Amino acid sequence: MMERVSAPPTSPGRPLDGLDPEQAAAVRAPRGPVCVLAGAGTGKTRTITHRIAHLVSAGHVRADQVLAVTFTARAAGELRGRLRALGLGGAANTVQARTFHAAALRQLRYFWPQVVGEVPWRLVDGKFPIVAQAANRVGLSTATESVRDLLGEIEWAKASLIAPEDYAAAAARHRRETPYDPQRVAEVYTGYESLKTTPEGMLLDFDDLLLHTAAALEDYAAVAEEFRGRYRCFVVDEYQDVTPLQQRVLDAWLGGRDDLTVVGDANQTIYSFTGASPSYLLDFSRRFPDATVVRLERDYRSTPQVVALANRVIGAAHGRIAGTRLQLIGQRADGPEPTFGEYEHEPAEAVGVAKAIARLLGKGVAAAEIAVLYRINAQSEAYEQALTEAGIPYQVRGGEGFFQRAEVRQAVQALRQNASRDDLPDARGPELITLVRAALSRLGLTAIEPSGAQARERWASLNALVRLTEELTEADPELGLPGLLRELAARAEARHPPTVQGVTLASLHAAKGLEWDAVFLVGLADGTLPISHVLGEGGAVADEAALEEERRLLYVGVTRAREHLRLTWALARNEGGRSSRRRSRFLNGLVPEDSPASLVARRTERTKRLPVCRVCGRSLLASRDTLLGRCAGCPGEVDSVLLAALQDWRRDKALELEIKPFAVLSVNILTAIAEQWPTTDDALASVPGMGQQRRDQFGPELLAIVRSRMAAR
Ligand code: ATP
Ligand code: MG
Repeated sequence: MMERVSAPPTSPGRPLDGLDPEQAAAVRAPRGPVCVLAGAGTGKTRTITHRIAHLVSAGHVRADQVLAVTFTARAAGELRGRLRALGLGGAANTVQARTFHAAALRQLRYFWPQVVGEVPWRLVDGKFPIVAQAANRVGLSTATESVRDLLGEIEWAKASLIAPEDYAAAAARHRRETPYDPQRVAEVYTGYESLKTTPEGMLLDFDDLLLHTAAALEDYAAVAEEFRGRYRCFVVDEYQDVTPLQQRVLDAWLGGRDDLTVVGDANQTIYSFTGASPSYLLDFSRRFPDATVVRLERDYRSTPQVVALANRVIGAAHGRIAGTRLQLIGQRADGPEPTFGEYEHEPAEAVGVAKAIARLLGKGVAAAEIAVLYRINAQSEAYEQALTEAGIPYQVRGGEGFFQRAEVRQAVQALRQNASRDDLPDARGPELITLVRAALSRLGLTAIEPSGAQARERWASLNALVRLTEELTEADPELGLPGLLRELAARAEARHPPTVQGVTLASLHAAKGLEWDAVFLVGLADGTLPISHVLGEGGAVADEAALEEERRLLYVGVTRAREHLRLTWALARNEGGRSSRRRSRFLNGLVPEDSPASLVARRTERTKRLPVCRVCGRSLLASRDTLLGRCAGCPGEVDSVLLAALQDWRRDKALELEIKPFAVLSVNILTAIAEQWPTTDDALASVPGMGQQRRDQFGPELLAIVRSRMAAR
């Protein structure tokens, strides 16, 4: 069987080109249910885009009868781009590829008059003030943190199809960590819902869009009939992250039909805290017993070095989801080993990462092919600063970044003022783009890129707004200024800024489904990833399931890299701060023991001075012998009681650190300790495999075990 190593160009109209046999089987499967269950980078997204192209070119379905959905605007953009490359982007044969929300928004706009009639509605600009008001009414704090937690609970409940009156019971069943007594949260939820009905009409949040869309299709036969005549074929990417609410919409779309292709990777489930569940993916063939189910294992995205690390990260996972993982098999040519870096404090980490990025840029890697990924959006700040200081262009994705920026807010404000003027023609298409350009030129959108990091940033943001307008008018030539403003407001809420050609700063959640040549996974400290609230007192695990989701986030991060991958962490938050942090527990057993520099130094030293057998004196070549400090055949004096004590310790340690016992210390190292009886740190250092880091981590405990055995003899 022939395999391609790098992504071959995909030619329009030849949807079976550039696929491996399993991918081709999913593409060629007859109309009806298809499920692709596969790991990261195995070509799931590629498979669905090719399947759509195949169904269209073989005449099974018209392009405009296909609805492809995914979860983030960025991922939907990626789908559209890939469909365009397959010839499905022209005016005549565009496939709709949208987020669930965007698809529902469009449908609801269309069906609302039939369903609700005259009652006007608009999208909520921001849920936060409404939740704050609802909290205030029932006497709860309106402090930012508190409101944010309440909002999180409301969002979870709505995505899980839980009504206010059922919230308290459901929260208990799902063991939610609620910010207040669940009854109080339910009161806020009730208040929030009623505050959205105003004298001027209804305010709908994103979840309401989905609810109303599903209800319109479920309850109004005429709406259902029209819709089902219009769309016949459904495709869902990243299906592991579907919520019960989204599944309900999907079921309403299908209306009992089964022309559904889903692809996903349960081990990339990273939204369960919002109510998403991989069970729909995992139970797909139970629901559709006739489904074609395809599993993919070949990883076309990443080098074998990156793939090996990804397999090790997910190999340590526990639980039901972990049982579904497949070992990825790297298909690309070798690349550099992933590197690890420990820094004294976060600003130093950010500066270190900026320097490493500068080196990559110097080697010719494009800025747009580099990403810095972190656990929470607030981490972007240090990197924004370090990159700005280094003069490296970047954009923050999915964070507060873009739409919060002064120039973007000013630009939107300027466009709003334009929209309220009635002497302006009703601009659409190229006219709308010209109008936007003209408005932004007054804010600094010059024809030529200005100099100076800040000015460049501003310019890039304004340009990105123009590009976004271009994209939107291309997708919808009828879009006018009010529509554009609505779309901008929706994006600001969904936090998906447009593309600027710089280094990407994004949260791991926002990076799902995407890929870059070089990826920096930063802030990998315990308490950040895994995030602190899944850890209990003193770093013990408070919530197993949530801890596993954190591990999957790291897996998602690692598998974004095509070639270069660096993982970093800092021991303190600030310069001069207390070094109280530890590297992420997920890296235990994955990090070479010392920094690359000292590894190199040690390696040279080792080649100069080969270790010798302490029994017969001969040079030791096999690594097992080196670890034992003697030839495997030479007699050793292992103290079996000591060895048993060490093994007991290792088992407990593995449980404590939640890693496999061999990842704590190998049997060979334990055997060597049981032979050599080290009682000092120096003696322990001469046991091969006991580098500085392992001694720091385990030394005192190991020495105590040896000493107590010695005392007992
Ligand atoms: P994720 O789980 O991260 O969403 P995925 O399974 O959707 O990953 P894709 O993004 O479709 O994977 O593919 C990963 C990369 O591998 C892409 O660059 C894609 O073009 C390439 N690729 C996929 N299949 C093949 C193939 N058969 N031959 C060559 N390249 C391929
Ligand atoms: Mg994908």
